Order: sequence, then C-alpha cells, then structure tokens
Amino acid sequence: MSNHHKVIIIGSGPAGFTAALYTARANLKPIIFEGNQPGGQLMITTEVENYPGFEHGIQGPELMDVMRKQVHRFGAESIYKYIVKVDFSKKPFSIWTDDGVEYTCDTCIIATGATAKLLGLETENKFMGYGVSACATCDGFFFKNQRVVVVGGGDTAMEEANYLTHHASEVIIIHRRDEFRASKIMIDRAKKNPKIKFVTDTVIEEILGKEEDGRKSVTGIKIKNLKTNEESEISCEGVFVAIGHKPNTDIFKGILDMDEVGYLITKKSTTETNIEGVFACGDAQDSYYRQAVTAAGTGCMSAIDAERYLEKINS
Ligand code: NDP
Repeated sequence: MSNHHKVIIIGSGPAGFTAALYTARANLKPIIFEGNQPGGQLMITTEVENYPGFEHGIQGPELMDVMRKQVHRFGAESIYKYIVKVDFSKKPFSIWTDDGVEYTCDTCIIATGATAKLLGLETENKFMGYGVSACATCDGFFFKNQRVVVVGGGDTAMEEANYLTHHASEVIIIHRRDEFRASKIMIDRAKKNPKIKFVTDTVIEEILGKEEDGRKSVTGIKIKNLKTNEESEISCEGVFVAIGHKPNTDIFKGILDMDEVGYLITKKSTTETNIEGVFACGDAQDSYYRQAVTAAGTGCMSAIDAERYLEKINS
C-alpha cells in the first residue's frame, strides 16, 4: 500500500466509520487509522437503545463491528495504528503513526473522539485496574456479588450503575450535588432498581485498599459530605469512575483551533477546521450532543465536505 491517500480518517467510532462509508462510496478509497480503541467508546457500552434502525437495541461492540464491515465492503481500509503527530502546514498533509511511519493525504478527517475523565486522586491511580475502573462493561464481571460504587451524576453514571447490578450485590452512586445531570428516564430507571443506592452532595477523598502478597485490592472509599463537611467511609470492592470525557485532540494543540477544554472548533454548519482540507467530526468537536447518532451525522457531513474540497482543488 502506498503511503499517500486522498482521504485519511483518524478515529474509528461512529463518526470515523460514517465518514469512511461516504468517502468510500464516493470512490475516494479512504484509510481509517483505528487508534488505540478500535470502534471507539461504543466498544465499552452495553445496550444501545437510541441508535435508529434497531427496534430492540443493539450491543455497542456489535454495532461497531457491523459499521466496520459495511465500510470495508465499499473499499475503505483500516490500519490498526495510533497517530502521534500531524503536519497540516503544507500539502499534502503528513501524519505519523506510533511506529514512526509517515503517511500523506490530500484531506484529513479527524474523528478521534473523547476519553473518560478521572478524579485525579493518587489512590485512584494506584488502584486503577485493581478495583478502580472507568468502564463497567469491561470490568463489571469481576465484581460478582460484591459492593461497588459509581461516581458521577450523568447518563454514563446511571447506565454504568444499572449495568453493574447484573453482577454486583449493591451499587452506590456517589454524586457531588443533589441534582443530577442525567436524563429523567435514566435516573428513574436507576431509582427503581432495588440494588442501587444514592449518596449525594458527596465527594470521594480517597480510595482505600490493601496490598497482600503483592496483590492490590480496593476495600472502600473515604467520602466527605459537602454540606455538612462530615467525613466517613464506605466499604466496597470496586470503584467505577463515570464523570464525563475529554476530547482526544492533544496532537492538534497549536495546529487546530480548539476551545479551552480541547474540543475542535468547526465553522458554523460545516465540519471545516481553521485549516482548509482538514475536517473534524464526532465527539472530538462536539461537547454538547455527544451521541453516537450525532457523531455519525457529523461524520457524514465531514465526508461530504472533504469530497467537495477535493473536487474544488482538482478542478
Ligand atoms: P456528563 O458530563 O453528562 O456528566 C458528568 C457527571 O460527573 C456530572 O454529574 C458531574 O457532576 C460529575 N463530575 C464531573 N467531574 C467530577 C469530579 N471531578 N468529581 C465528581 N464528579 C464529577 O458526562 P456523561 O459521561 O455522563 O455523559 C456525556 C454525554 O453522553 C451526555 O450528553 C449524556 O447524555 C450522553 N450519554 C448518553 C447515554 C444514553 O443515552 N444511553 C449513556 C451515556 C452517556 P456535576 O453534575 O456536578 O457537574
């Protein structure tokens, strides 16, 4: 395979695959760099009930598998590598993989998505993978008949808590306010679940654990009620952090316009970035909707924008 392509897509979630579908059907032979988490965030989701076309819902990983097969059918190719550097200052554009290989392209579509945020506690880092997790679907299985806590008050926290009740004996949602950001239907579902309990106005100060024979494990959390300042402990075996996401745009810092959090800024009603020929779609540029279907929608827009750009420069 030559290292020059008309279209390079960075990222393989619903945005990247939809961009690939449209550019492949336009005969532009797109290359998709699938990155560190092929399939993106839906790979760590269970049931997706709000993606149109699936009357009874579909599992996230299955949806992504179908999307990948669909784009490959039209000639898009996947490369299972991570992009570490880009140069958009000259044409063709250059991008580099983590093993140092340079690829060039006429147009680049950025669909790098977002990653789960963490609390930033030293003990969270210490016990990550040993009782602390940011992905219930990946790790819930390890907490059969145990007590776990979920941190956060958004839809992710509600969804993770509901999922964890399939494994854990009890799930405690710890939220720093007494109002929830999550949608009403998700809160209602969590509140109706007899295995889920809520602790509000509370933050985690420390994750407690032990180390025996070189094996680390979580034994509880130290919490503080923000209204009373009262500190206490809850014993649990698992801590699931579900407090939102950060866009995966670090490699574009100083190159592409982004907001203070790192979301790429695109021109109104298009996916154009500040560099002509570079387009951004999905959660990397959307801090507001952040849905699989809106990511797919902006992926489609970026493909059409890229196609029109290529027509313009080649005419
Ligand atoms: P959100 O940004 O919606 O919620 C993050 C939650 O974490 C908030 O309750 C926030 O508290 C809390 N939080 C943030 N930082 C900290 C911190 N340092 N310490 C303690 N708590 C913290 O993120 P989500 O990931 O929940 O959802 C993102 C988007 O994805 C939303 O639009 C959501 O609707 C969507 N989504 C939809 C799903 C579905 O429909 N099936 C499933 C999952 C997500 P506070 O409220 O006080 O700011």
